[in-house]
Amino acid sequence: MPTLDDIIHRVNSYYPSANTDLIKKGYEFAEKQHEKQVRKSGEPYLQHPVEVAIILTELKMDVSTIVTALLHDTVEDTGVALEVIKKEFGEDVANLVDGVTKIGKIRFRTTQEKQAENFRKMLLAMAKDLRVIIIKLADRMHNMRTLQYLPSNKQVRIAQETLDIYAPLANRLGIAWIRSELEDLSLRYVKPEIYEKLVEKVAKRRAERETYINKVSQILRQEVSKHGLKAEVSGRPKNFYSIYKKMESRNLEYEQIYDIVAYRIVVGSIAECYEVLGLIHSIWKPIPGRFKDYIAMPKANGYQSLHTTVIGPDAERIEIQIRTKEMHDIAERGVAAHWIYKEGHMAPSELNKFRWLRSLVEFHKELRDSTEFLDVVKVDLSAGDVYVFTPRGDVVELPPGATPLDFAYNVHTDVGNRCVGAKVNGRIVPLKYNLKSGDTIEILTSQTQQPKKDWLNIVQTSRAKSKIRQYIKQIERVRSIELGIELLEKEFRKKGTTFQKLQKQGELEKVAKEMNYQDIDGLVMAVGYGFIPPKQVIRKLFPPLPEKSGQPLDKSAESVRGETRVFTSKAIKIKGVGDVLVRFAKCCVPVPGDPISGFITRGRGVSVHRADCSRLLSHDEERRVEIEWEAEGVKTERNVKVRVLSIDIPGILVKMSEVFGSHGINIVKAQIRTTKDKKAINIFEVSVTNLPQLQELIKEMEGVEGVISVERL
Ligand code: MN
Repeated sequence: MPTLDDIIHRVNSYYPSANTDLIKKGYEFAEKQHEKQVRKSGEPYLQHPVEVAIILTELKMDVSTIVTALLHDTVEDTGVALEVIKKEFGEDVANLVDGVTKIGKIRFRTTQEKQAENFRKMLLAMAKDLRVIIIKLADRMHNMRTLQYLPSNKQVRIAQETLDIYAPLANRLGIAWIRSELEDLSLRYVKPEIYEKLVEKVAKRRAERETYINKVSQILRQEVSKHGLKAEVSGRPKNFYSIYKKMESRNLEYEQIYDIVAYRIVVGSIAECYEVLGLIHSIWKPIPGRFKDYIAMPKANGYQSLHTTVIGPDAERIEIQIRTKEMHDIAERGVAAHWIYKEGHMAPSELNKFRWLRSLVEFHKELRDSTEFLDVVKVDLSAGDVYVFTPRGDVVELPPGATPLDFAYNVHTDVGNRCVGAKVNGRIVPLKYNLKSGDTIEILTSQTQQPKKDWLNIVQTSRAKSKIRQYIKQIERVRSIELGIELLEKEFRKKGTTFQKLQKQGELEKVAKEMNYQDIDGLVMAVGYGFIPPKQVIRKLFPPLPEKSGQPLDKSAESVRGETRVFTSKAIKIKGVGDVLVRFAKCCVPVPGDPISGFITRGRGVSVHRADCSRLLSHDEERRVEIEWEAEGVKTERNVKVRVLSIDIPGILVKMSEVFGSHGINIVKAQIRTTKDKKAINIFEVSVTNLPQLQELIKEMEGVEGVISVERL
């Protein structure tokens, strides 16, 4: 078992001025806290935190990280208060211990790839400080190295979780050796047969392979030094997991995998990397399509190198990676490589995630433009998205500011619609509560709940918004149908029949079709919304008996369809002329009370226009006749179009139709169109008897809340 001295010795090797007293204090604290605990392996528990610290010294981590490694299980396992840690070891260590403890409590339970990705993001978002993740990786590493002491069902579960979450995280952070060791350790438990076979096969040809590796390395060294360059050349088999993945993805046998060994050449500068590449390509033929320039285009995790595959000695394919020392350091230690680089001149308290992010930005500016990498880091570390759990343990990704309602609609529309409350981590919260990463949400529902309009102000996701809108629209539709049936039923009763009877007889269906509605619902809805008066439906169903001639003001059902109606002169008095056929012009639609003028048409009587109608004024003056409205007592109804501009809010139509109703004005037709800026243009064709009535109507309509303007067309 490594000792305190081992840790201090290692830290001093890369950080001579390190505060080793704090490390010593951490060690002694952990020793005391874990005193009576024993690991499954039978060894003292203290060995675990010490080994984790040792792993972190390999990444050359700072003192706070090393101390945290020693203390990382004390809060969770031995019940030490975080306050004590803070008092004894300072805020930086306390924050790190807190982060590791919190992340340690999260259980990952599903194996879907999408879920795994969300979970990885969640860990990054929750960690706040990347050192927490790095400690967690080291913790997992040691647990994987000692997994043989656990029962086999636990072995498989933990190994699978490592493969799904921690190995990809190590890869994301660019820490290659941790990734590959975690992968191989996991493979051993997740696919034991394959692992055994690979170990056996790799071992079998070991001597042969080592001879070949030496031969290739020798040639490479000679070539390089011949050209006056200094380089470290090495070759070693790739990890088992990557060989397994290659076999699986290309459906190959082990024997068919050629590039099992990766050769690595480490040189002094970027220019030398390309120079060495040229040398290699001049002695061995490169395989087309296998050259990759990760120096010019670094991988998302910051990895840089030149990769090429060539036909080497004995016609074997060999893969070669060429990089500088710095690139090699980054390839092995990833983000940790940069971290220590900055430590020398940064106070520990400055090492919060934003500093960290900014220094990453600077660092990569120095190297090369690699926006892709920065994007990845930014996405992962920004205070943005929240990751929360369902009660089953699935992770759900939501936008910042998301509420339990967003979560509910994310689960299912019905859950959203029936949501009455939510429990977050077991406690009831208001619906507008802002979810935080790591929260576990349970939605409370009720069969009688319905979406409310003000929910639209609470939710963040467009899915929730559109579902709420959809539901409200549906409710209004249902309400208008109910109201329509109620209004019609009243009229039907007067005629001694019922809605149901008429529906059965097929009469309603017939009338709906006649009035250009798709079905009965369409007709009933139009009545409910107030677009057509119930009486109009009655007239269709029970056409009035033909009346005596000389009753000019009778209007057949057709007359309300907007056609020009024909009157005799009873409604209109034309000077010096007796009974004559008059028509009301469609262009200006005069209403009793409007100043009017007549125009003699060829064979179609006199057409009546408003006196200022431009159409009339453009016509032959000689054919104009003076006319006026007949005296009171003669009633006539005219269809006039009124344009109402309003904001598009639910329920406003009902208010408008109430105004028409209160003036005894029937709506003949309505045309409603909404605009992009949430306004509604409503064109009503209404039947009015005289001008004052129309003027009053307009005045009152203008007073309706939400109405912007009203104009007669
Ligand atoms: Mn641990």
